Amino acid sequence: MKIIVTGGAGFIGSAVARHIINDTADEILVLDSLTYAGNLESLKTVADDARFKFEHVDICNRAELDRVFSEFKPDAVMHLAAESHVDRSIDGPAAFIETNVVGTYTLLEATRQYWNTLEDAAKQAFRFHHISTDEVYGDLHGTDDLFTESTPYAPSSPYSASKASSDHLVRAWLRTYGLPTIVTNCSNNYGPYHFPEKLIPLIILNALDGKPLPVYGNGAQVRDWLYVEDHARALYKVVTEGEVGETYNIGGHNERKNIEVVQTICRLLDELVPNKPASVNLYEDLITYVADRPGHDMRYAIDASKIDRELGWKPQETFESGIRKTVEWYLANEAWWSRVKDGSYAGERLGLTR
Ligand code: NAD
Repeated sequence: MKIIVTGGAGFIGSAVARHIINDTADEILVLDSLTYAGNLESLKTVADDARFKFEHVDICNRAELDRVFSEFKPDAVMHLAAESHVDRSIDGPAAFIETNVVGTYTLLEATRQYWNTLEDAAKQAFRFHHISTDEVYGDLHGTDDLFTESTPYAPSSPYSASKASSDHLVRAWLRTYGLPTIVTNCSNNYGPYHFPEKLIPLIILNALDGKPLPVYGNGAQVRDWLYVEDHARALYKVVTEGEVGETYNIGGHNERKNIEVVQTICRLLDELVPNKPASVNLYEDLITYVADRPGHDMRYAIDASKIDRELGWKPQETFESGIRKTVEWYLANEAWWSRVKDGSYAGERLGLTR
């Protein structure tokens, strides 16, 4: 199979690329505009494989998309390119509308034009897989409720509203034009190669520097955490075995309060770091409560029973095993994160750009 992976230089997209190259016989083309969140160094371990290609393309650029589709001739598109950080969407929503809404529309149109040129059998076998978030469902207040695939949309932030818009566009392109689409909505991911603006890597790296560990509000917000490599396996299962027109929720069955996540990381660092900064006794002493995010959702939790039942996918990591692997990865991969922190991680140096 030949798969276009948009956003493949990002956190989840690079995990998808590594999974497909390492664990399948498929060929991939990563399309990425390399925003601050795109890092070709996350693809270093697969970049030399003959089945891996990269193109420096913005999904809002229709002419470039048309060229890439006609040259690569994909059997499927896995669409992960997005602006993905909620706080940035509050400070500057424009880029979120541009990439997540207009970019998804542009990609759908380029895909549709290419798909229309295929023979009937190839047309039927083709898949457009849109990767989205559980944040489109808004938040949960009861402690027992879970998001299912039929939970109504009620996004709270500019980020989640832009992702909700893109989900609707994707479903409309199936209903109106027959383009074979599938949507997945996933809970919070964590793991290796995560950009250090997000909670888990931020806490690990601040702690290692002896800096304050910021926790929004009282830290009681609940998220359902999924190890990124479990998500990558789920996405490949969906694109290869999922039913056209279906939505699959993906989650880790790992609900944790934000403060519990931070405390767990602190305990692991106490155990794993031999030389703490001189000012630090226990890493937990660095926890600092900061003003809550406006419109902050209280609780997300996913019912992932459909993908288990219909496609036989389950997460392999518990939160305890995944967070330990993640902390160990950051401790062993300073070469990756130090170049992200000092801004020297731009991709050209790997010779992967066109
Ligand atoms: P990320 O921010 O790490 O990566 C996004 C990638 O998209 C980057 O490589 C960036 O350069 C690229 N990109 C951005 N704008 C682009 C454009 N206009 N054209 C081409 N490339 C562009 O994001 P992530 O955390 O890897 O998330 C990937 C997808 O999964 C997103 O669609 C996100 O909404 C969704 N998602 C993320 C999570 C999570 O916990 N991170 C959970 C559920 C769903």
